[in-house]
Amino acid sequence: MIGKDKRGTILRYLRDVSVEGERSYTGTMSAKPSPSRILCAQCEQPEKSCSCDKFCALCQSELGIRLCTDGLMYCEACREACDYKTVD
Ligand SMILES: [Zn+2]
Ligand SMILES: [Zn+2]
Repeated sequence: MIGKDKRGTILRYLRDVSVEGERSYTGTMSAKPSPSRILCAQCEQPEKSCSCDKFCALCQSELGIRLCTDGLMYCEACREACDYKTVD
C-alpha cells in the first residue's frame, strides 16, 4: 500500500518534470521569429504599414507580392517554387 506522503512526493515529481518539459518547449519556440515581428527589409515597417513599391525580389514581378519571413517580398509563383512563407 502506498502511503499518503509517498503519493504526494510522486505527484510533485511528475509536476516538476512536466513544467521543465514545457519550459524547454517554449524556449525552442521563441527561437523562431514571431510573424508579427517580420519587417520590410527596406522601410522596417510591418507588411501592413509598408508603403514601398512591392515587387518580387527574385523575378521583379508586381503580381501577388507578399512580405515573407526573411523580410523580402516575393510573388506567388516564386513563393510556391521556393517554399517561402508569408508573414501570416
Ligand atoms: Zn517597406
Ligand atoms: Zn517572383
